[in-house]
Amino acid sequence: MDLQNKIALVTGASRGIGRAIAGDLAAAGMKVCATARPSGDLDDLAEALGSEHLVVPCDVRDPAEVAALYEALDARFGGLDVLINNAGIAVGQPLTETSWATWRNVLATNLDAIFLLTQPAVVRMQARGGGHIVHIASDAAIKGIPGMTAYCASKHGLLGFGRALREELRGSGIRVTTLLPGPVNTTILGGAANRWDLLQPADLAAAVRYVLTQPLRAEVWELLLEPGG
Ligand code: NDP
Repeated sequence: MDLQNKIALVTGASRGIGRAIAGDLAAAGMKVCATARPSGDLDDLAEALGSEHLVVPCDVRDPAEVAALYEALDARFGGLDVLINNAGIAVGQPLTETSWATWRNVLATNLDAIFLLTQPAVVRMQARGGGHIVHIASDAAIKGIPGMTAYCASKHGLLGFGRALREELRGSGIRVTTLLPGPVNTTILGGAANRWDLLQPADLAAAVRYVLTQPLRAEVWELLLEPGG
């Protein structure tokens, strides 16, 4: 896809990987609609992106807020070419210490929200005859990590969702790519983002740019990235 002036919706853009992706796609000439829950980080993002882009507060677990996000997107840009499903949370807890509320929150954020966000995206992309949906899953989608049953279940679910949707959309011009990163230097599990031995958010932004800009003959279905060295 030629990214110039195309419209991208990036979730979880207030910090970490999503922020890097939103900035990179804006730098590539896309019109970016970036979202996360209201915070000072989101205000900073709006200032950093500038007025030709759109920042909309939205809790991706809430169907009404996701509907309002798409209304704002339609009103401003009138369509959608790229959806980056990046918003997510991680909880590190043995199963016996995981409450039902925690389990539901992880699944609501990492999987239920994917349904809420992707369905209206597909409708808009079908109207345009093409598009690209990129899921930021995790290598936890293909392996078991102790203390992360809810997270692994949600990311395995996301991988399956992407595989089924890709088959469903075959021939429509809409691509579905799932990225499977190993550990990335962000604050997702608390603490400072000072692990320079891990993947960096910019590495994920570069991977997203790579998958979006492949020619028609080359389609990236899934991409596993791990820290090197
Ligand atoms: P961060 O915690 O740095 O960022 C998470 C983003 O998701 C924030 O912008 C946060 O915004 C947003 N978010 C969380 N909950 C909600 C919600 N209910 N509604 C709207 N937005 C929400 O995490 P990362 O950047 O590390 O993670 C991004 C994605 O990458 C996640 O899906 C994660 O699973 C995945 N990933 C991360 C890895 C890592 O090691 N960091 C490895 C592999 C995958 P806010 O809280 O302000 O609403």
